[in-house]
Amino acid sequence: MFAEIIIDQDAKALDRVFEYIIPQDLALSVGMRVYIPFGKRIVQGYIIKIKDDCDYEISKLKSIISKIEDFSAIKTEMLQLMEFMAQKNHLKLASVLRLFLPSEMREGKVKELFKTYYSLVEGVQINLSKSAKKQAEIVDILAGGKRSAVELAEIYGYSSLKALREKGYIKKEVEEIKRTPFIICQGDKKVELNQCQKNAIERIKEDKTYLLHGVTGSGKTEIYMNLIENTLEKGKNAIMLVPEISLTPQIMSNFKGRFGEAVALLHSGLSAGERFDEWKRLFSGEAKIAIGARSAIFAPLENLGMIIIDEEHEASYISESNPRYDTRDVAQFRARYNSCPLVLGSATPSIESYKRAEDGEFELIELPVRANGREMPPVQIVDMMEELRRGNGGIFSNQLIADLCNVVNNKKQAMIFINRRGFSSFMKCKECGYIAKCSDCDVSLVYHKEDNRLKCHYCGKQYKYLARCPSCHSEHVKYGAVGTQQIVSKLKELFPDVKILRMDNDTTSTKNAHQNILNEFKVTKPAILVGTQMIAKGHDFEDVILVGIVDADQSLYQSDYRATERTFQLITQVAGRAGRSVDEGKVVLQTYSPRHYVFKFASNYDYKGFYRKEVNIRQTAQFPPYSRILRILFCDFDENHVREQLKMCYTDIEKLRKVYGDDIIYLDAMKSPIKRIQDKFRYQIMMRFKLAKADNIENEVFRMVDSATKNSVFFEVNPQNLS
Ligand code: ADP
Ligand code: ZN
Ligand code: ZN
Repeated sequence: MFAEIIIDQDAKALDRVFEYIIPQDLALSVGMRVYIPFGKRIVQGYIIKIKDDCDYEISKLKSIISKIEDFSAIKTEMLQLMEFMAQKNHLKLASVLRLFLPSEMREGKVKELFKTYYSLVEGVQINLSKSAKKQAEIVDILAGGKRSAVELAEIYGYSSLKALREKGYIKKEVEEIKRTPFIICQGDKKVELNQCQKNAIERIKEDKTYLLHGVTGSGKTEIYMNLIENTLEKGKNAIMLVPEISLTPQIMSNFKGRFGEAVALLHSGLSAGERFDEWKRLFSGEAKIAIGARSAIFAPLENLGMIIIDEEHEASYISESNPRYDTRDVAQFRARYNSCPLVLGSATPSIESYKRAEDGEFELIELPVRANGREMPPVQIVDMMEELRRGNGGIFSNQLIADLCNVVNNKKQAMIFINRRGFSSFMKCKECGYIAKCSDCDVSLVYHKEDNRLKCHYCGKQYKYLARCPSCHSEHVKYGAVGTQQIVSKLKELFPDVKILRMDNDTTSTKNAHQNILNEFKVTKPAILVGTQMIAKGHDFEDVILVGIVDADQSLYQSDYRATERTFQLITQVAGRAGRSVDEGKVVLQTYSPRHYVFKFASNYDYKGFYRKEVNIRQTAQFPPYSRILRILFCDFDENHVREQLKMCYTDIEKLRKVYGDDIIYLDAMKSPIKRIQDKFRYQIMMRFKLAKADNIENEVFRMVDSATKNSVFFEVNPQNLS
């Protein structure tokens, strides 16, 4: 017998199927991982097919050495998914397969954790000498049941234990410990579903993709839980994806509360061991629901009955580093393979998904009102230019300050949102205009007040505080504009007796930090929580009656066709945090461009109005979903080398203009907006083409680039981020 094998290595030359002989005495099946000789080395590989004949000359074939595990780590469905993803996203087979396994399994680093216990050997008469006091005590303790070996050794020392064991009085047992991640459960409060929710659940039955468009607070989570409950009742399994698990602790605790041990978590916040154990619980069928961020879509569950993607519009569903893929495509593949529904839920669906629903490709289900019957909070737009004209050049408008006073006086809570961490707190020289940049990455450094340093957010490199301009030696250097820290200091000045909490990348770098901040906020009144995108999602705080958006424009001015869409999504999400309970909520939105259409639609919670306007603009300007953008990114330490590669590919691709003419809307080669990251130079070819010929063009371009280059070329379709 022969096996077709994919070698677990990243090299492009190895990205194909190799044939090996299966030794007689080795029982192997498809999907198993094996050790094989390759050249002079021994490498790991995946069996993707077993067959009677070989295509290659048999005398030149080598034999498989041994298996790595006793089971097929890659199931049949995943092998087909591998083919699909490799083709769709132009990925190497091995790099796709790696996505399916916890990394610790591949690297063989994590061993299962074991705990050892001692217990009495039954039916043995114990005779101890009077002097063996410690041994007698141990026997007494063990008479009450088994005890941890480590604990006993700490108290009584190893020698006593050893003596007892040698006499045959006690024995050691080993138990495997499952490192199930800890979650605070809120207990299960079941609610009576409203008619909207019932209708939605009734409709979500078929082997289709559903777009569940429900305003914030419309009770989507409750729908997800009911759908999954029904799925389990049918004896099937489910996958539920959330954008970033540490940001959605509430969903997690709700699910654990209702489904208990049937839930397995897969996300980056877990330790390597925890991830591995959760993966195994899914693989063995012990756990039936996989919940997690993007990578949980690869959960090793068979017999799927439901796949749910919450907040489907989130950029985090598209992986930005290699291998690049869109989680929604993978989810569709798995849903079709298992003939089950796929639910994409959002209060602000991506323009792309909503259009697919309009075109009839997805089935649209709408939840227009909040589950508790509350109105959406009114949004007041404050023109910051006007504020400046009236002499207020501060961070907060007079309106926002007045509303904050109201919150404080009533012992309620507020959230203040800014668009990015430490945004634009760069160092600038007022005399010559010098801006401090990272020497490796060519981006502005961000000033961090806590440790008085400048940091590069792309590579993490740190620089000393500069008191003088390195260029003209002037002392007139200016640090920073507005960041979370500055807002916090300003608030402390305004409200010295009020608890001000801060949540951003800097305050949440340690494990459980999110949860701790949120827990503290939950019990403190009055309190103000200042934060970045992290506070925009899923939190359900009853006493938040005010949401302030300090810099609503920030996300508008990125050179990205999705900038307006992102701004709409953010405002809607953040606004949804206010007035979720009995008290009237309110949103104050500060902007320097109050007449931009995005603010008009967002302040009226008019998703459809916004969609219409946005989709028209995209159509006129020929941007996705009315065209396809392809970015080919070249990175290398050697700038000349990248430029040569770029030039070569570009010359080839330009020839396509003759073939495709008008179908190619745009084609150019350039430096990337960020010219260096981690010392690698970055150049790119940008293309935009009409949809009719998009697949053909994309495939041709890929073939050209693939044959002209060796490594470090990234293909991105409709990239999320153009840095
Ligand atoms: P979404 O995810 O759509 O923003 P949630 O699922 O978080 O909304 O629900 C918002 C709030 O409404 C939650 O506190 C939830 O417990 C509550 N809720 C959900 N369904 C109902 C219902 N049928 N009746 C009353 N309250 C509900
Ligand atoms: Zn200067
Ligand atoms: Zn850097």
